[in-house]
Amino acid sequence: MFSRAKSGYPLRMFECFENAGVARTWPQCGRQSSITASEHATLNGLPDRLGHVVPVAACELAAGHPGSHVAFVVAAEDGDHWWWLRWDARHRHLIRLDPCERTATDEDVPDDCLLPSGHHGPHSFEL
Ligand SMILES: [Zn+2]
Ligand SMILES: [Zn+2]
Repeated sequence: MFSRAKSGYPLRMFECFENAGVARTWPQCGRQSSITASEHATLNGLPDRLGHVVPVAACELAAGHPGSHVAFVVAAEDGDHWWWLRWDARHRHLIRLDPCERTATDEDVPDDCLLPSGHHGPHSFEL
C-alpha cells in the first residue's frame, strides 16, 4: 500500500511512517498514467537520483480533487529535489516541486505531508 522505499522517496519520509506504525487506507484519487519513454529518459538523467523512476504514476491527491492529477515520480539531488508528474486529459508536465511544509502536530509522532507544496485539498496525513 505504502511502498515508496522502492520508488526513491527520501528515506526519512518512510522512516517516520514506519516508526508511527501507520497502516492507513488512503482514499486517494489514484488515477494512473504510465511514464513515457521520453519522460523516463529525462528523469533518469537527473543528477544524484535516489532509487528508480516509477513506471506508473498514481495521483496522490484526495479523491474528487479539482484540476490536474499530481504524482511523485522520483527524487534527485540526494533527495533535495522532488519531481512530480502533473497531468490532465490534454497536458502532462514533469515539474520539480517542494513538498508541502505542513506536519501534523496533534499526534505523538510528527507526520509530514507528502504532497507537493500548494496542493489542493487535505494534507496527506488527513487522508
Ligand atoms: Zn487525481
Ligand atoms: Zn499538505
